Amino acid sequence: MSNNEQLSKLYQKLHEQNVQDRRDREAWEKVNREVKEVLAEARNVTNFRKSFNRWIRTKEGQTVKKKLFISQQEKCAYCKAPLELQEESGLSVDHSEVHHLAPLALLQRYAEANLDDVKLETLMDFVISPKYLWLVHPKCNKKLGEQIADLPELQFLRDLLS
Ligand SMILES: [Zn+2]
Repeated sequence: MSNNEQLSKLYQKLHEQNVQDRRDREAWEKVNREVKEVLAEARNVTNFRKSFNRWIRTKEGQTVKKKLFISQQEKCAYCKAPLELQEESGLSVDHSEVHHLAPLALLQRYAEANLDDVKLETLMDFVISPKYLWLVHPKCNKKLGEQIADLPELQFLRDLLS
């Protein structure tokens, strides 16, 4: 092979490589764009933790908390020991925490992974419905952590982890 032929072959190779690189780059940029779009959308999904923290401070949230306190007979739903009361304000349940039978972090993960077909209103039920809330001691809440309650309707969260 002459030098010229060799050189021309190399140029050809270089050209092909460039085309390939450009295609790779375009493909990469496309994926990158898609990832950014998905992330931007994900950020638009309700933040369940924030929503709950806002809601629990509202009149409705406080009423639900008091209802839980009464229906649990003033006991922690986990250890069954009495929940502490704040003396100065009578019936106050400020020393207790609300435990979610459907862990909020998992709900969040589920919502963000199923952006298109997820119904946020349905998921919000797990965030604020007394049916899915336990009033517990802060230390009991820590122990419970991200446990998913053994309810058939929470199977979708177990599936998320499997
Ligand atoms: Zn407890």
